[in-house]
Amino acid sequence: MRKKLVAGNWKMHGSHSANAELLSGILAARPFACDVAVCVPFPYLSEAAVALAGSDVRWGAQDCSQHDKGAFTGEVSASMLAEFGCRYVIVGHSERRAMHGETDAVVAEKAKAVLARGLTPIVCVGETLGQREQGTAQDTVKRQLSAVIHALGHCVGEMVVAYEPVWAIGTGVVATPEQAQEMHALIRAQLHAATPHAEAMKLLYGGSMKPENAASLLAQQDIDGGLIGGAALKHADFVAICRAT
Ligand code: PGA
Repeated sequence: MRKKLVAGNWKMHGSHSANAELLSGILAARPFACDVAVCVPFPYLSEAAVALAGSDVRWGAQDCSQHDKGAFTGEVSASMLAEFGCRYVIVGHSERRAMHGETDAVVAEKAKAVLARGLTPIVCVGETLGQREQGTAQDTVKRQLSAVIHALGHCVGEMVVAYEPVWAIGTGVVATPEQAQEMHALIRAQLHAATPHAEAMKLLYGGSMKPENAASLLAQQDIDGGLIGGAALKHADFVAICRAT
């Protein structure tokens, strides 16, 4: 039995006051049956670390550099994130792939850098609407995952994978439990071919997961949690999703 993980992806949202309210709302709702994490903007890592210290709610970042240090203006390395007590780092989110030109190879290098610092990468994969309509959704996800599998070698089993169909992110159009489970089963099969630990790995679904649809998604055999965007910004919604596990 895999323990579920619900991770909030705050994206570029937050303020000192909003964060304090959100984090205290989450803390007040403990205990949860699942693992819970929030992936916050870089400037707020320190306050998340202070607010969540001593609790079982983990925190993390939404990206990092594939490099460890050097002349990379504006970048943040995995070793810096480790100093802030991060547990997770989201890598390869579709917004970064689309808006910042992150290739499969770059995403794979980032996942490797995160693992090298002892943190857990949440590696995002997922097809666009066009790819789904053209019937290439499975090939797309397979290609994205295969780059990461290749780069991580024997450490593959230590990552978390998030299947996030791009057409479902922030749109309110959620994948059906059947659509999501179908892709998750394919992802797990691909992982089985790469690592003896595939059965224990957490595969999250992301894309318009809300309190009203979470339970049916989370009931699927290969869906081990959620990566939550919009619904992670209100503690009542986020807590309701955590409770739906
Ligand atoms: P959403 O975002 O829940 O707002 O669709 C999910 C994500 O982008 O990780």
